[in-house]
Amino acid sequence: MPEKKSAKDNDNVMVCVRCRPINETEKSQGCVTCVTVDEIRGTITVRNPNASHGEPPKTFTFDTVFGPNCKQVDVYNQTARPIVECVLDGYNGTIFAYGQTGTGKTFTMEGVRAIPEMRGVIPNSFAHVFGHIAKAEGDTRFLVRVSYLEIYNEEVRDLLGKDQMTRLEVKERPDVGVYVKDLSAFVVYNADDMDRIMTLGNKNRHVGATNMNLHSSRSHAIFTVTIECSEKGPDGEQHVRVGKLHLVDLAGSERQAKTGASGQRLKEATKINLSLSTLGNVISALVDGKSTHIPYRNSKLTRLLQDSLGGNSKTAMVANIGPADYNYDESISTLRYANRAK
Ligand code: ADP
Ligand code: MG
Repeated sequence: MPEKKSAKDNDNVMVCVRCRPINETEKSQGCVTCVTVDEIRGTITVRNPNASHGEPPKTFTFDTVFGPNCKQVDVYNQTARPIVECVLDGYNGTIFAYGQTGTGKTFTMEGVRAIPEMRGVIPNSFAHVFGHIAKAEGDTRFLVRVSYLEIYNEEVRDLLGKDQMTRLEVKERPDVGVYVKDLSAFVVYNADDMDRIMTLGNKNRHVGATNMNLHSSRSHAIFTVTIECSEKGPDGEQHVRVGKLHLVDLAGSERQAKTGASGQRLKEATKINLSLSTLGNVISALVDGKSTHIPYRNSKLTRLLQDSLGGNSKTAMVANIGPADYNYDESISTLRYANRAK
């Protein structure tokens, strides 16, 4: 029996969980799977490998869950497609990938762009947007622009800018709201243009990073697509509506304190935790619907996405977990985060 919707449910926010397959390295190290996914019931069950005798496994229920054998296109259709449709109609939307490093955030958002069936949410959304535009009739015109930025240590960097060392300022104006001063935006005419721009931005992510693995696991990457549609209304005048789509590959959610960080590392860790915990607080306040104060201002990430989280905007969060028993603690922590946000 599907659960009855309560007043708490907010149709504008969807939280789902994806569990990746166990990999060869994990198998060779003797890891076993401690996660069971029931796609029909929408449940994830996790067994504690260190449980004292008799401890029952924990089960969590979500809007949608994806098991290790799910297809990229199914993830797109169930999470991103409805949001992209709304953006084409002039609303704002945000899709997040959350989770511990190595659980499939980048696989979910980007995937393997060279292999069609392995393409993730971002390339699938490019194809969807331009597929829609190709079908436009009459006086309907579209203008598509993209930006790509990174938040590292609460500092904003333009991944499409000329100078990778420049830190950009976040500003606010009554007429435009919150924006990033001097952020580049490129007009694109087809999915290949977008793909090339994404490749350029990804290359720039490496610039200035001393340890790429560490860097990408600690930074948030936001790819933004702005779609303007100009259409002739019943009054014979052209009307313009603008929708914005943010595609966000979040920093790794693993607890940093465990690694015994100190000094600069500890400062970074505190900031990563701040933006992820603020995001959790914002989403849970939105879903709850009763909060009068939404703490957007508490982190750069939530401040930048303020006009695309809440109100008429649509949000989907894909929380990624790994199946291996040695990730038990992190998987439980991700499931709790996602559970609070749903
Ligand atoms: P993250 O971005 O969260 O650090 P990645 O997306 O880089 O994690 O995934 C880690 C590894 O696992 C990569 O080699 C990726 O290709 C693989 N992987 C992740 N999810 C899946 C999946 N659903 N199916 C197959 N391989 C996956
Ligand atoms: Mg990644």
